[in-house]
Amino acid sequence: MAEKVDVIVVGAGLAGLFCAYELAGAGADVLVIERGDYPGAKNVSGGRLYLNPVRAFAPELWADAPLERPVVKERLTVMAGESSTTVEFTGDRLRRKPHHSATILRSTFDRWLADKVSERGAIIVPKVIVREPVMQNGRVIGIQADDEIHADVVVAADGVLSFVAEKAGLRGRLKPKNHAVGVKEIIELPADRIEDRFGVGPGEGAAQLFFGSISRGMIGGGFAYANRDSISLGMVVGIEALMKHDPPIESYRLYEEFKSRPEVTALIAGGNTIEYSAHVVPEGGIAALPQLAGDGILLVGDAAGLGLNLGVTVRGMDFAIASGVMAARAILKAREAKDFTRAGLSHYETSLKSSFVLQDMRTFSYMPHLLENPRMYASYPDVICNMLEKIFWIGDGPKARMSAEALGEARRLANWEAVRDGLDLFKV
Ligand SMILES: Cc1cc2nc3c(=O)[nH]c(=O)nc-3n(C[C@H](O)[C@H](O)[C@H](O)COP(=O)(O)OP(=O)(O)OC[C@H]3O[C@@H](n4cnc5c(N)ncnc54)[C@H](O)[C@@H]3O)c2cc1C
Repeated sequence: MAEKVDVIVVGAGLAGLFCAYELAGAGADVLVIERGDYPGAKNVSGGRLYLNPVRAFAPELWADAPLERPVVKERLTVMAGESSTTVEFTGDRLRRKPHHSATILRSTFDRWLADKVSERGAIIVPKVIVREPVMQNGRVIGIQADDEIHADVVVAADGVLSFVAEKAGLRGRLKPKNHAVGVKEIIELPADRIEDRFGVGPGEGAAQLFFGSISRGMIGGGFAYANRDSISLGMVVGIEALMKHDPPIESYRLYEEFKSRPEVTALIAGGNTIEYSAHVVPEGGIAALPQLAGDGILLVGDAAGLGLNLGVTVRGMDFAIASGVMAARAILKAREAKDFTRAGLSHYETSLKSSFVLQDMRTFSYMPHLLENPRMYASYPDVICNMLEKIFWIGDGPKARMSAEALGEARRLANWEAVRDGLDLFKV
């Protein structure tokens, strides 16, 4: 006879751990299985966590959570071939507590969270890979790892590649069009140097996003987040765009090019790389969502394709946390009715639909299409940077009127494509 628990959570990332925390708090018998050496060991995020959407989920946790720095400054850098334009935003509202967002290191945060989950009585087993769900008459009744273990419900929190969801028949094979690949380094630097470079005060953090020529016309961009004693630097590029790129180029080479730009070297000079990782990111938006629930199974976080890239904000962690907790609450309701079929677990899909998670994904359903436009990464950044270069430049002869120079560049936008692209902006 296989051992049986109430709920098996596959994956100790944010989605899985928050789900287990909520379930264990309500007295459910929960087993979390994680393939990494410890929770967080394999988890990659940019990472800036938007706190407002998640504060109401497990509110008692946030006061002591090991966050890195509150983000009090936002920078957006448009990169052309040899120049760049940065827009910087800061304000008291970002500085005021409770903070709007904070940088986070997943290896630290997930480990801390796993301790909180264990304190509530859930069992977390690291270094074990779940190979597949165990099915009986089309419903999930457990998992196969080193042993077969049964449960009323299996929560697939195994991240973007979720083989559990695929093998349970809730989604097909990954489509390159709906995914991007991220390369990320954590670069250690003294705190005061980080503060000087981002122009923030002691203990304050900043987030900088980069887009334009760095992705060579492909959907993607770079990021730099100020942590306590390190900078998280990375780049994300669409997988289908990479596969079609001519000549072929690997994502890590694009990242190296990005890293060698003066705008980036100024941030990381003298730093010491302490971690290097690569990870897939779901970017297909709401149109690419799989079936979120089945008989005896729920999908949460990246395994459910919950992520939203708006170019200026990247979200996935807040969606993972919220979906994990909502899955737990749906399971607790299903327990009352002793019905673990998809219908019995339907509270999960209903609450996701009425929450910010699916509402935001619906509101911005056009975003993946908009971001695919190669002109966003080539001609428009060029126009912006050339315009500014002409305004600032003093040559060896007389200077033309600034308006004429700026208009000369802006004329590049006087075509139907640019008008259509401009109108597209109103769809997001
Ligand atoms: C480069 C990059 C930058 C990002 N930047 C941001 C950002 O700034 N802000 C933001 O909000 N989001 C960001 N994201 C997205 C965010 O990281 C994810 O949405 C979030 O981590 C999803 O959490 P999760 O718990 O669903 O999955 P994960 O964190 O991936 O956790 C899945 C867990 O399952 C385990 N696992 C997988 N398979 C198995 C198995 N078969 N058996 C046992 N265990 C298994 C894994 O080891 C892992 O611990 C970024 C992602 C990337 C890659």
